Amino acid sequence: MPDRQPIRQPALKANGLASRVALCPPSRAGTSPPQSDRPPGHGPSWRKRRVLLLNTTFEPLTALPLRRAIVLLVCGKAEVVHGDSAGMVLHSATASVEVPSVIRLSNFVRVPYRGRVPLTRAALMLRDNYRCVYCGARAETIDHVVPRSRSGPHTWENCVACCTKCNHRKADKTLNELGWRLPVAPHAPRGRHWRLLAGLSETDPLWLPYLGEPAA
Ligand SMILES: [Zn+2]
Repeated sequence: MPDRQPIRQPALKANGLASRVALCPPSRAGTSPPQSDRPPGHGPSWRKRRVLLLNTTFEPLTALPLRRAIVLLVCGKAEVVHGDSAGMVLHSATASVEVPSVIRLSNFVRVPYRGRVPLTRAALMLRDNYRCVYCGARAETIDHVVPRSRSGPHTWENCVACCTKCNHRKADKTLNELGWRLPVAPHAPRGRHWRLLAGLSETDPLWLPYLGEPAA
């Protein structure tokens, strides 16, 4: 899509909302559509934007594409908990919808418990706070504590966040050989919010109070 085109959302058939909506920052609301799909201060493009969906109990369930979140809102199946931090608004011919960051379902959904949280780079970095477990510097890599070349498994218990320097020094050695030690034994995180985080490459800071809650 050319940059100069206004954002066009797909058809929203709910509640008589007009078939097309345009996305406007607050200062432009009701005047003209934005010139770009990357409003200032918003890193990810709007197409990639995700909205945190909470159960009625405020338990985090998943991260929806913005488009699907808007459909839930206009269908009355969810309500906005937190709006977009920049106050962005979606406009159609007949209605305006606040761009949400966090929404909450109107009716409780029961989600079956699903075992172990998948190991992803994003979730591992969050578990270890983006810090190298060996020196505390900012982590850029994942280290296998028992090296893969020595049959170390790719599991939560054997993977840690690591800076490039330590990873390079550690190479294919074990901690015993280097005289290094781990401050705490790595473990798999528990809880549904970790399952959610494992599938995300980035999060909105407005989500953090919900993601920090222990999952039921
Ligand atoms: Zn390090």
